[in-house]
Amino acid sequence: MKALLVCEYREGKLLDSSYELVAFADKLGADNVLLLIGSMAEVPRVNSTVYLADAEIYGEYNPDLHKKIVLAAVERENPDYIVFGHSSWGWDLAPRVATALRAGQVSEVVDIVDGQFVAGICNAKLRRTVTPKTDTVVLTIQSGAFNFDSTRQGTPLVERIELSEVIPSLEFIGYEPSEAKSVDLTRSEVIVSIGRGVGKKENVAVISALARALGGELGASRPAVDAGWVEHCQQIGATGQTVSPRLYIACGISGAIQHLVGMRESDFVFAINKDRDAPIAEVADVLVVADIMQIVPELTAKFLKTENTFRQAG
Ligand SMILES: Cc1cc2nc3c(=O)[nH]c(=O)nc-3n(C[C@H](O)[C@H](O)[C@H](O)COP(=O)(O)OP(=O)(O)OC[C@H]3O[C@@H](n4cnc5c(N)ncnc54)[C@H](O)[C@@H]3O)c2cc1C
Repeated sequence: MKALLVCEYREGKLLDSSYELVAFADKLGADNVLLLIGSMAEVPRVNSTVYLADAEIYGEYNPDLHKKIVLAAVERENPDYIVFGHSSWGWDLAPRVATALRAGQVSEVVDIVDGQFVAGICNAKLRRTVTPKTDTVVLTIQSGAFNFDSTRQGTPLVERIELSEVIPSLEFIGYEPSEAKSVDLTRSEVIVSIGRGVGKKENVAVISALARALGGELGASRPAVDAGWVEHCQQIGATGQTVSPRLYIACGISGAIQHLVGMRESDFVFAINKDRDAPIAEVADVLVVADIMQIVPELTAKFLKTENTFRQAG
């Protein structure tokens, strides 16, 4: 079983999500070869063959040319799976490749169970388990769902890949940053999230202080975003980001399925809720039954004091 992993490259840099494709292939038990449309300097540090197409020639974003490059790599390797990240680049390219190969496509894969792919459906309110029927399968995988051990480094075997003819059908103008401040929570090791239980915007600062004390980021459930307490880029869940930090602290979040799908891969979940029967208890390693506005300032003070003690001790 072999997987062709199509890495992502933006503004001259390999995206870390490319390594998550390797973690996915490992979990699948597939041999892997990688494809990067990028530069030699950014080739992923893995012990695998990496096909390299030069982004100077083929562009960073050109679905038409990129589709042809992916198909050229498919012809050489004849993989069973062709895997993209579930990003705007992956969404655009994957179906073009699937159509060209008449391959089945499974989008937004979050897990593999008994060799079957688990992916969201109905805006991720539900999960479906899919067994594709075609010999070749195209997949997109959700960011943060498959963790790669970043200490693992290898030496790639780089092979150049080129097209005999380069006639771009579109011109890439450039990237435009979104107006809102963008937070990439998928890379955070510690996330402290607020839910409706925070009560009002003025209380958010209390929770942000805990996130800062722990060197983490502030996340949120959808009601906290809808109320305008934080930006949409901080939303975690079905219609927000999927995260897998080492520590996730849920403050006043009930644990609706649409929230859980975005954070249940966290290593350690610490929940604070007034209601001991809140569904978040099902995924929490520790549930503290308390009022967040009482306990969070105490926790923050305790962390800061402990940190100072360690610092003074040298
Ligand atoms: C199509 C669709 C997509 C969605 N996408 C998302 C998504 O991406 N992310 C998401 O989060 N939701 C999403 N939702 C909404 C989701 O269904 C829930 O409504 C939402 O997650 C609930 O947010 P919450 O836990 O903050 O609020 P609530 O469910 O209202 O829970 C608040 C919790 O706070 C506790 N609480 C109250 N006061 C305190 C206090 N002082 N101290 C301690 N605890 C307290 C309560 O006991 C309660 O458990 C989606 C819904 C739909 C239909």
